[in-house]
Amino acid sequence: MKIAILSRSREIFSTRRLLEAGAQRGHEMHVLDTLKCYMDVSSLRPAIHYRGSQLEGFDAVIPRIGASITVYGLAVVRQFEMLGVFPLNESVAIGRARDKLRALQLLSRKGVGLPTTGFAHDIDDTQHLIKLVGGAPLVVKLLEGTQGRGVVLAETSQAAESVIDAFRELGANFLVQEFIKEAGGSDIRCFVIGDKVVASMMRTAKAGEFRSNLHRGGSASLVKLTPEERSMAARAAKIIGLNVAGVDIIRSKHGSVVLEVNSSPGLQGIETATSKDIAGMIIEFIEKNAAPHKTRTRGKG
Ligand code: ADP
Repeated sequence: MKIAILSRSREIFSTRRLLEAGAQRGHEMHVLDTLKCYMDVSSLRPAIHYRGSQLEGFDAVIPRIGASITVYGLAVVRQFEMLGVFPLNESVAIGRARDKLRALQLLSRKGVGLPTTGFAHDIDDTQHLIKLVGGAPLVVKLLEGTQGRGVVLAETSQAAESVIDAFRELGANFLVQEFIKEAGGSDIRCFVIGDKVVASMMRTAKAGEFRSNLHRGGSASLVKLTPEERSMAARAAKIIGLNVAGVDIIRSKHGSVVLEVNSSPGLQGIETATSKDIAGMIIEFIEKNAAPHKTRTRGKG
């Protein structure tokens, strides 16, 4: 098959692994810099151009779209979809995952366990919002943040009020969430392919930190998921409509809950922690599922 990876650089670990895994399985692999793809959207025959020539003959596209280029990246994926190229994850599903409010609302609508969460933009009564989510300590998150940036732990209601007021002044969208203290700075990344969790790892924050992101010095270890956690993670990916997803769950005293669903989960941490060939499994999924004009978006809009 002829497979495109949309990525800013072939030097990125995940991109490199997907390239290797595809080549190893006999596919013609191309890395396309997402921002360098340009599109003809005016004619009856949609087209994508790259470095002066028209892209043709692709069977599948693997979007690895960074959060900072979501809007343009999604337009490129949509254009591939219009050409009938099979996307590993569909544009609609990636769009849902990137919008944290929308993703949490979709999950909540389907009854997936979530931390008690409030959304706000410009409220008059900050104390009321704090009360709504059960009071301090609580976590305030900027919606645009990734890799733990813009995630603040407010230990007292006074601290929470100051942080919320500051975010409000900035005109930022944010959410306020119950702090799952009992997780002890750990969360679990579940790597979902198709309808199964194929690998998982526990990430634990370094001392003095509550955010477990590996980019913030967190460490990874093996973890055994309960059957409920497995099905919850697979279900969360399915609700968002993602074929491949990194579902982050956290163990709270009222059971495990979903923190976030990622549409471009990194491979480095999970492959290193589990010694599994996740890149190979992704390529295998494409082999089994790719067909012209076939998409698997489950759910709507
Ligand atoms: P990002 O998308 O920026 O990584 P997250 O919402 O995943 O933001 O938060 C980063 C980290 O902070 C999580 O991996 C988790 O370890 C910790 N965390 C986030 N929300 C909570 C919470 N409600 N209670 C306890 N820890 C949390």
